[in-house]
Amino acid sequence: MVVTYHRPTRALIHRKAIEENIRQEIQRLPQEVELFAVVKAQGYGHGAVATAQTALAAGATGFCVATLDEAIELREVGIVEPILILSVVFPSYLSLVLDYDLSVTAATKDWLVEAQEMLAEIGSEIPLKLHIKADTGMGRIGFLTPDEVREAALFIQDSPNMLWEGLFTHFSTADEADTSYWELQNQRFKNILAVLEETPRYVHASNSATALWHKDFPGNMIRYGVAMFGLNPSGHALPEAYPLTPALELVSELIQVKELAPGEGIGYGETYVTPEKEWVGTVPIGYADGWLRKMQGFSILVDGNFCEIIGRVCMDQLMIRLPHEYKVGTPVTLIGKNGAAEITMQDVADHLDTIHYEVACMISERVPRIYKE
Ligand SMILES: *Cc1c(COP(=O)(O)O)cnc(C)c1O
Repeated sequence: MVVTYHRPTRALIHRKAIEENIRQEIQRLPQEVELFAVVKAQGYGHGAVATAQTALAAGATGFCVATLDEAIELREVGIVEPILILSVVFPSYLSLVLDYDLSVTAATKDWLVEAQEMLAEIGSEIPLKLHIKADTGMGRIGFLTPDEVREAALFIQDSPNMLWEGLFTHFSTADEADTSYWELQNQRFKNILAVLEETPRYVHASNSATALWHKDFPGNMIRYGVAMFGLNPSGHALPEAYPLTPALELVSELIQVKELAPGEGIGYGETYVTPEKEWVGTVPIGYADGWLRKMQGFSILVDGNFCEIIGRVCMDQLMIRLPHEYKVGTPVTLIGKNGAAEITMQDVADHLDTIHYEVACMISERVPRIYKE
């Protein structure tokens, strides 16, 4: 999708906010614990490269991404720090992984055996960097038992073309008030560590929520994601451990303003009919920008006022009810502060019955990301 710069709709990304969120987290960490910034999915919609560069300036020492292509994007702009691909990379792509000096996740024995064959075929002199993933209760990817992890570690250590760089797990309930399942997972991870003769360079278990709300997490590195963008990982469930500053604002401008007579239909399907004389504004953002049709009935800020989205959200535009006439070009805020009013990404998530992670990711590529110092 082409990025549409010649239109007033923009996501403003505040680098200072990202920096501040990371700095605060680093200050709380024990000296020996490193922070890797998780910049998968275009940095949760904030832009992967800019987020990574900002995170580096704030003290991050490495990065996590979900896919091989996301890792390559960072290397192509000159990022030299360690990059771990958290999801499974097919062994057929390992020559690319080696070329770009990336670290990959080993999650099954079969994968390791296949990777071994592939590496023999490639004949690389540089060993493949591997992080063993232990599934302690997420049920997604990883080795299930301490014995399986131990066996995987020995397999890697016995392979001259493999380097055991990391061991990790992922918590599924770190953002909940009830800590019992988190403790079960933590105990399982400790049980794994207990059967290993040695540990690799990086041992890591913490996502943002674990770092924020669990003191005695294991490991010497954290994978810090959503909190970097100023979003509370728990939504409403737990108070922020320190004040997080939202990094993203979504803004646009009124492109047409008119007063309609009573009884006029708005939008496809005529789902809204003006009950009385009304000032109506049109805003150039729609579901193709990730502002979904379900946003009908939600509000947008104009001059500090909450203005309801009336009629169906179109692909590229939507209509709002204005309190009175406004000039074309008047700024509107979809996410962020406007006058004394504010709409947060959490508010949007609440309206959509989802989590802010999803809202951040759904702002489409068409919306330019503009970086502010
Ligand atoms: C996405 C992800 C993270 C980061 O999670 P946040 O909740 O955004 O901090 C960490 N680890 C893994 C394995 C992930 O997939």
